[in-house]
Amino acid sequence: MAECYMCEKEGTTVEHVPPKCVFPEKKDLPEGWNLRSQLITVPACDEHNTKKSKNDEYILYVLVMNLPANEVGGNHFQTKLIRAIERNPNLIKQFLSTHQRVTIQDTETGEWQNTIAIEIDRHRFDGAIDMMSRALHYEHFSEKWLGKVSIQPDFLLSLDPETARDTNEPIEQLAKAADQVFENQPYFGENKEVFKYQVINGNDQCEKIMRLSFYSNCKVTVFFGLNG
Ligand SMILES: [Zn+2]
Repeated sequence: MAECYMCEKEGTTVEHVPPKCVFPEKKDLPEGWNLRSQLITVPACDEHNTKKSKNDEYILYVLVMNLPANEVGGNHFQTKLIRAIERNPNLIKQFLSTHQRVTIQDTETGEWQNTIAIEIDRHRFDGAIDMMSRALHYEHFSEKWLGKVSIQPDFLLSLDPETARDTNEPIEQLAKAADQVFENQPYFGENKEVFKYQVINGNDQCEKIMRLSFYSNCKVTVFFGLNG
């Protein structure tokens, strides 16, 4: 029996990476589509399976409510998420309790749009991406990563007028730099409209860097073993 991707215990369960709920089911897709082909899995012990499962639905909410998500993500919101909300209305209440109305501009088309911004529990979001990144490392390199993982999503921005500029500018710069660095790198993952990732070797600053893309446009940069 294989060992858990996070520890030395026996891997008694099979974990999907990213969580299966992120991938639309056949019944929610046009005839003949399959976006659950050869999903990535890793062995996990009971403890790490439970820990991860708790965050699966949270991650799904954050990703599909995200404005840059592609059509597949948008459709997933209209189907699966709406069903989940109908089943458990408290979930969405919790999620929206912090929302504020915002007007945003698409910097490519110049178009303005009214939408809402939601406060994200960064601890929870980062925890979920942290486990996901370790699982991908295990799957990709057949080797566990027990060192430090640092996470930088492109799409979580500050709206606090006091700090927004200082917080958001470096995020936007890092996103641009990451797009350049990964421009010609191959993508892995069978269902690329839902999830794909790239990986490069780092330098003396860190060991490896991964770029995760959910619904094409929701991207997260992950640094393995970043110094400082
Ligand atoms: Zn474990």
